Amino acid sequence: MDMPKTGKSWEEVRKELEARGAGDAKWRDGKTAVYVFNAGPEIAEVQHEAYTAFMSENGLGPLAFPSLAQMEREVVEMALSILNGPDWATGAITSGGTDSITMAMKAARDYARAEKGLKGPANIVLPQSAHPAFDKAAHLMDVEVRRIPLKTDGSYEADPRAMGDACDAATIMMVGSAPNFPHGVIDPIEALGDVAEAKGVWLHTDACVGGYFAPFARMNGVPVPPFDFEVPAVRSISADLHKYGYAAKGASTVLFRDKKLYDYMPFDAQNWSGAPMKTPTLAGTRPGGAISAAWAVMNVLGVEGYREKQGLVCETRERAEEGFKRLGFEVLGKPMLGLIAFRHPEHDSFAIYSEMYRKGWFTSITIDPPSLHLMLSPKHAEVIDQYIEDLAEACETVAKGKAGERVEARYN
Ligand SMILES: *Cc1c(COP(=O)(O)O)cnc(C)c1O
Repeated sequence: MDMPKTGKSWEEVRKELEARGAGDAKWRDGKTAVYVFNAGPEIAEVQHEAYTAFMSENGLGPLAFPSLAQMEREVVEMALSILNGPDWATGAITSGGTDSITMAMKAARDYARAEKGLKGPANIVLPQSAHPAFDKAAHLMDVEVRRIPLKTDGSYEADPRAMGDACDAATIMMVGSAPNFPHGVIDPIEALGDVAEAKGVWLHTDACVGGYFAPFARMNGVPVPPFDFEVPAVRSISADLHKYGYAAKGASTVLFRDKKLYDYMPFDAQNWSGAPMKTPTLAGTRPGGAISAAWAVMNVLGVEGYREKQGLVCETRERAEEGFKRLGFEVLGKPMLGLIAFRHPEHDSFAIYSEMYRKGWFTSITIDPPSLHLMLSPKHAEVIDQYIEDLAEACETVAKGKAGERVEARYN
């Protein structure tokens, strides 16, 4: 398509925009359980208005926009207040989980070079279930990735002993997830902490999808094990605002136990023709709206608001678990938060997934072991019974050998 020679009216372009969305996943009615976190129309309005209020401002310029710098500081402080941050803990807002993970790895690598005499190649040790963002960051930094098989006891948890065995003098980081994405299970961060301390290795908790969920689930009485700075070996945490923080997209936090560790993260560029530019994260320009929307949603919800939303999600997951078990499904491990993976002992998970897709459900799958996967939002409380009904029908169709064509599930 060529750029139009003369522009059209906004009215005309707006109509076309609206029409284009028509073919997308129907997330607003709750039939999508991946990619979108639907906390309802009130929060959507806060995101929208708070984002547009600072849409043109740029987080790259804290001197020009002290408002954004202060909002960022306050978001980081609020995050640390729920994640057991010690006095000297600090952090930054990034563009997303991948950015947070990349920057935590950069800090850990530079720390190892400066304080542990690391020269030459480096590696990271992570459970098989950890997010591919670590591989991407490792690729960028030319770091070797050592993925270690999970425990074989059906818990789908990281195996601390095997991970410890994989560490050596060139290991810059060990990783645990809270929770991991494929199974929704929280890794044994305390046990990983013991190993990390014994080996003198930096432990990172990837709480991208659980950082703004697990603390509130715990306040609601869920027996969430220690996973954050409460575990002394945890030196950094990634926690995404644009997931269960219910912020607008383009916002995550990367947090450090100590300012001294944080100081290995920013990149200080002095040797160019322009003015000095020291940036904390991967981005140059940082959208002000992502910062203001996150700050606004946190202030609108507060602890009580998050507790209520996450309580609703946990309840919905429990209802889902009961329904799935009634239909003969097995739930993988012990999910405690908003993610759940499940499979049927007789019927092919991906055949069932395909039938559900044809019924209008856009969800995800887990490959190992082959399972269906849901990432639940508050909105799903209204539709989970329908999902379970449809699942019963889909099982019947597959059991009768009447399954239709396979739908491929992938993230690209
Ligand atoms: C979503 C997620 C990430 C990556 O976050 P993005 O914002 O998609 O870059 C990393 N780890 C876990 C466990 C996640 O769920």
